[in-house]
Amino acid sequence: MSRRRQIYEGKAKILYEGPEPGTLIQYFKDDATAFNAQKKGTISGKGVLNNRISEHVFTLLAGIGVPTHFIRRLNMREQLIRQAEIIPIEVVVRNVAAGSIVKRLGLEEGSQLPRTIIEYYYKDDALGDPMVADEHIACFGWASQEEMHDIADMAIRVNDFMCGLFAGIGIRLVDFKLEFGRVFENDYARVILADEISPDGCRLWDMATNEKLDKDRFRQDLGGEVEAYQEVARRLGLLPEGDTTVLDMEKHRKSRTKK
Ligand code: UDP
Repeated sequence: MSRRRQIYEGKAKILYEGPEPGTLIQYFKDDATAFNAQKKGTISGKGVLNNRISEHVFTLLAGIGVPTHFIRRLNMREQLIRQAEIIPIEVVVRNVAAGSIVKRLGLEEGSQLPRTIIEYYYKDDALGDPMVADEHIACFGWASQEEMHDIADMAIRVNDFMCGLFAGIGIRLVDFKLEFGRVFENDYARVILADEISPDGCRLWDMATNEKLDKDRFRQDLGGEVEAYQEVARRLGLLPEGDTTVLDMEKHRKSRTKK
């Protein structure tokens, strides 16, 4: 498909060498996984939508002063990003009880948490991404105390901003996952927001109906995954009303490449 050097292939994305030193190309696949990759599938058109949604959210975040790895979108499935050293911690921000915290603490799904919670998980597939505390992160040197301070600060800012962004389009931001990376500028390391922000890593519920507009549709076999992602994109103003061009073009591209 491409002669570019592949740097890394993850579950939903591929990273290629970028056109200039210090840059990478992030390619969004249609592959979906859940439950630590025990469940695998394809959501046709997901990559195109996530590329667009993530571009939009990262651009808005940059506008309020949150540093991110996003440079610009290149095409339907690719974006140019800054190369960063990924900090091996998944940062989960929760506003409403759902998913693993419901089971772990016996909470009622959908109940508003008394305050926003930030949790950290160590990124290690073989271990199933175990939850860790600040103490573990400091002890094993995964990030410095100063970096963790910046990360927690940014996670709260991102949450405040995204709660408002989604509330404005009738969506409740239940929880989401962030990843951060380090960039080096004149021997000085700085933490920036990396990875993606899309319905793959967020729980997004319609405020009026509680309908799930995120990857839980795949996790729970609810069906209508791509329609849900498309609905999020549409409400964000990324697809004109009733327009399915992005997906139609993608279908067209696929049928052409199959021939
Ligand atoms: N999440 C993610 N990747 C992971 C684990 C979680 O993007 O490897 C997101 C997930 O989509 C949800 C939030 O982080 O929005 C909290 O997930 P939770 O801990 O409840 O785990 P889950 O129930 O999704 O396994």
